[in-house]
Amino acid sequence: MFSQLQTVATDPILGLMAEYKADPNPNKVDLGVGVYKDEQGHTAVLKCVKEAEALRLKQEDSKTYIGMAGDLSFNAHIEKLAFGPAHQVLLANRVTTAHTPGGTGALRVAAEFIKRANPNATIWVTTPTWANHISLFQAAGLKVKEYAYYDYDSKGLQTEQMFADLNTIPAGDVVLVHACCHNPSGMDLNFEQWQRFTAIAKERGFTPLVDMAYQGFGSGLDEDAAGLRYLADNVPELLLCSSCSKNFGLYRERIGAVSIVAEDSKVAEIARVNLLSVVRSIYSMPPAHGAIIVSHILDSQELTALWHQELAEMRNRINDYRQLIIDKLAAEGVSQDFSFITRQHGMFSFLGINKAQIDRLKAEFSIYMVGSSRVSIAGLNHSNIDYFAKSVATVLK
Ligand code: PLP
Repeated sequence: MFSQLQTVATDPILGLMAEYKADPNPNKVDLGVGVYKDEQGHTAVLKCVKEAEALRLKQEDSKTYIGMAGDLSFNAHIEKLAFGPAHQVLLANRVTTAHTPGGTGALRVAAEFIKRANPNATIWVTTPTWANHISLFQAAGLKVKEYAYYDYDSKGLQTEQMFADLNTIPAGDVVLVHACCHNPSGMDLNFEQWQRFTAIAKERGFTPLVDMAYQGFGSGLDEDAAGLRYLADNVPELLLCSSCSKNFGLYRERIGAVSIVAEDSKVAEIARVNLLSVVRSIYSMPPAHGAIIVSHILDSQELTALWHQELAEMRNRINDYRQLIIDKLAAEGVSQDFSFITRQHGMFSFLGINKAQIDRLKAEFSIYMVGSSRVSIAGLNHSNIDYFAKSVATVLK
């Protein structure tokens, strides 16, 4: 039976990672993979996580199952973090949350939940979007369509086309919107655009699905959730998928959450049992470790303060390097306008260079980025930024 299988193309980012690893050039630079790296090029465990893990080791007295919704204390914390502690949807008991194996697990559970609610739903994603969005929704049996989003010419949003596309989407469909730090473009909706998005969602009656994989990486924890909070204030229902991979640095622990906001508490209760039955039929119960670490951090004022500080360090480092890219390229005599980089947020931006230039950067300078010219800004540091700027300037000449 297995010999009938056809081979499958590997994710281009994984291929790029393998090439980078095998490259003997001591000056090599990895701008491919979407994980935060510090000034030493290291993805360190956060100090607040280390402290929470020490506490867990001391306190843990059982490894019994935790239940389909996962850790309830984590779920309450993550709802407050996303919506703000006194949001009307929380006060009215309109939200139900399950913690999931990562943001990816949250998206897959959301997809299965959508299919139960409306088997004919199409899910609309931004052009472009995180590549895994498309494959994971299709794998769940949902139809996927795209709406206009990033404008490769102006390096901003295709604002009017985006709203025109959204204005064609019917009730019963789902529209995925990135809460902040759009992957792969870094280009986010501003508040006025969130208001327009919300008005269209209300008028057309489609259901928004907010993917929040980078809360705190853009402008701040509250700032990055402002669009979501406004949306939740104004539409009857939405789905939220969040992730603690980036903002808590818990990548491999696989911790995220899916939250359903329903029109009232009665519908939320029906949503809750459906959500749990979806979870039961996929992986039964989520892994506990990451959720309990986040819970310990958010239970403690001291650890929360430390987390805020460490998160701000990561955010500020990325934002500093966004400015540095512009300054260093200008210092190398590049006349092309790269100012868009500081108008974008989070881990990624498209450099906007062509395929031949990307290939040359890899072949001649061992600088690795995805074929779309998406760069992971956190791959830059004090010891490679000058080399990066010089190399980019050379291929742009
Ligand atoms: N959503 C987006 C937009 C992402 O970029 C990612 C990760 O890169 C995820 C969701 C899922 O994150 P994870 O499953 O690692 O928590």
